[in-house]
Order: sequence, then structure tokens, then C-alpha cells
Amino acid sequence: MVVTGADPVKDRRVDAETERLPSVLVIVTLRARSSPSRRMTKVTLSPSISCWYSMMSLGSRPFTLTNSSPTAKSTLEAGESMEIEEIRAPDTRPAYEESQFVITRLDFVNVDKVVLAAPRGFCAGVEKAIKALDWMTRVFAPPVFCYHEIVHNQFVVDYFKSLGVVFIDDVTLVPPGAPVMLSAHGSPPEVIEAARQSGGTVIDAVCPLVTKVHHELKVRARKGYTVLYVGHQGHEEAVGTMAVAPQSVHLIESTEDIDALGTFAGPFALLSQTTLSLDEWQDLREYAEAKFPDIWMPNRSDLCFATTNRQAALRTIAAEADAVIVIGSANSSNTVALTKVAEAVGCARVLRVNGAFELPDDLRGTVAVTAGASAPESLVNEVLDALNPTEGVTITSVTVEDEYFPPPPELREMLKTLSALLDLALGTPAASSFDGEADRRFTAAEVLSAANR
Ligand code: SF4
Repeated sequence: MVVTGADPVKDRRVDAETERLPSVLVIVTLRARSSPSRRMTKVTLSPSISCWYSMMSLGSRPFTLTNSSPTAKSTLEAGESMEIEEIRAPDTRPAYEESQFVITRLDFVNVDKVVLAAPRGFCAGVEKAIKALDWMTRVFAPPVFCYHEIVHNQFVVDYFKSLGVVFIDDVTLVPPGAPVMLSAHGSPPEVIEAARQSGGTVIDAVCPLVTKVHHELKVRARKGYTVLYVGHQGHEEAVGTMAVAPQSVHLIESTEDIDALGTFAGPFALLSQTTLSLDEWQDLREYAEAKFPDIWMPNRSDLCFATTNRQAALRTIAAEADAVIVIGSANSSNTVALTKVAEAVGCARVLRVNGAFELPDDLRGTVAVTAGASAPESLVNEVLDALNPTEGVTITSVTVEDEYFPPPPELREMLKTLSALLDLALGTPAASSFDGEADRRFTAAEVLSAANR
């Protein structure tokens, strides 16, 4: 695959000669007697029949196919199919014993060209949250509890489940003394308090940009403002933010919600969820300003840098594309916002997919690709492989993100204490500070690389 342009997301220039496509892309359906509903999503066969696969629940890892059928072949042509008796990951028991793997589809999508947006994928807040939960799984024996999905991406959540993390939506389910992590979206004050009351270690992975909105709401409420909060009903971030001052805040999802406010004496303030579509936010801001001319709002909107950067990058490429692929989960607000941006600039076909296994096979021409702030780059790579553009991939970058959020303070303190105890035991000088440079260099992609092996 030919890739042109510097890619700030990967921080390297991709050499076309070193990027080779797998020889055959196969979409298979898994029909396992023990688990008939599980669907195997993608298999790539090499001529040696040593393969790797992506599975909804297991991530990607190398595996070996076994096929004793007399008609078994080591390579397949597009459109051919064969039955596979067993899939075995190296050094492990068979991934699915007594299972039948029936290849139902065998083709590349074969579009002409891919235009890849930059920035895309993981933001600094998601990096921080994934790395923090990774630390929790290293320091504590399972189960580690996590209030809500750590970030809204199934691949990430499934990876942590495989390490023994238990995701809960009710913090009272945490057993006394068990370690708890609170998700990146921010939690209501009463949830934080209940988690602390459970008696175990509590680490709050809230993104600092969400905390900033919590603070704005707290201050405006204290000063007697009526706060209009633009957000999505039921989204964890909106729920957590509004719980900071429920008596002073009104959720706004439409102009009708503003009309329905009735008559308040004011003063008024306008805040928002960090991950909205810029167009959606601007429409509601203008409407609110027309209705309440003195309404207070922050100097910069609450939409975060990651949200606006990803939308700006997609806006530059979506209009010219025959289709836009947005990689990310349906419950990811910034992912859904990206689909709205692509639709707003007039792209005729906008698809949100969880991964390559959801790509339709009738994509043609130029396809623009981006990923929400909680979608791993490994999923982007799989989509590019599946699209297999005959004219290669062009990267369009609007800015380079170098934001970095350090780990939650409670985690830094815990790591410092553990390090000091270790030094005491070994008789070496005690660590006095957290190594921020080392943490900055370590990425969430490295954390997840275990899921890709
Ligand atoms: Fe923070 Fe924005 Fe990322 Fe959300 S999308 S975690 S607010 S940087």
C-alpha cells in the first residue's frame, strides 16, 4: 500500500515499501457449538496458513488454522471458501474447541483511494485513562472495578475485561475494600463519595477538561446563575457534570429546550459537554445568545481540543470523498459528532464502524477515514488494510497534537509510595518524584499492544 504524507498521529512517515498488505483478507462467521452467537470477524491468511485474526471479544492475535479436509488449500482466491476445523493461538489451547469456522466472504473492498484524517483516534484524556487503568491492573490483583466504561470503545473495554477488570454502572456494587477506578467521563460527586466510602483505593481518571466544566458549573451556581448545559441526555459526562449543581442547571439538547425554560430572572450562563459537534453547539449558542443577550460563557467553548481538531481534519476531506468511515463506538459522543460533521459538509455516504469487520463491500472511489478519540489506531490500520486502496493512502493533517495529561494525582502518589517501599526493601535511594517524562513516552497503544499480539 502506498502511503503519502507525514502522519503526526503515528509520528512517522510511512514507507510504502515497508507496508505490505496481507495476502488474503477473509471475513468468517464463527459457528461454535459452545457459543453459537459469537461471530468471528476477520481472518487474514498468509500463504503459509499462519494467520492472525481479530475477534470482537479477544482482540487480534496470531493463530494457526487446522484443516484436515482433502480439499484444504494453503491459499484462497477471492470468492473461494473453505471450512476450518480449529483456530489455535500460539502456545495456548485452541481458541475454540469443537468449533466450525466457515469462511463466508473472501474479498478486499478495493477502493481507489483513502484520505486519512489527522488528528484522529486517542486524545490525551483517553491516553491518561487507559494508562491509569493499566496501572491499576498491575498493582492490584483482580478484580479491579471500574465505574462505567473507562472510555467508550468496545475493543478497549474487552481488553481490560480480559485482565479481570469488572465494569459496573452502580458504584454500590463495589465490595468493601476493593480498588475502584472512575471513568474518563467524570463522575457525580455522590458517586465519588460512595466509592471512597467502600474503603478501597479510588482513582479518578476524569479528563481535566471535563473537570474544568465541573468547576465552571460550580462557580456559576454559587454566584446565582441559571446554567444552560448543552449536552446529551443520559451521557455519562452530562450526568456527571449536571450532578455538580443540579439545582442550577438545565439540560439543553434543542432550541425547544431553550424555549421551554420559561422565565428566570437570570443571570444566565452557557456551558457544554466537551464532545459535541461544533455545528450543533454553535446553533444552540446563537439561539441562546439571541434569547438571553447577557448570557455568560467561557472565553473558549467547552468543546475540547481533541473534539474540535478531529472535526476540523474531517471537514477538510469529507466533502470530496465518496464515503466517510468513522471508526468508533456508537456510545462515543465525539465519534457520533464526527459523523454529523461529515453529513453536514455534504458527504453522501457516512458510516460509523466498530472495526474493519463492519465495512460494507460496495465502497468505491475515494474514502475518507477518521477515528473517534477513544478508538485505537490498530482498528484504523485494520480498516486501511481492508479498504486496500489501489492508489494508496494520503494523510491530511490540520494540526499536531502534543497535549499530555499526567496520571491522576492519587495514582501518582500510590506509585511514588510503592516505589519508595521497593527502594527501602532493596536498600536503594528512595524515589522522590514521579517520572513524568517516562510516562509521557509510554502510550496507551503500548498498553493495548498485548491485545493485538
Ligand atoms: Fe478529554 Fe476531550 Fe479526550 Fe474527552 S475527548 S477525554 S474531554 S480530551
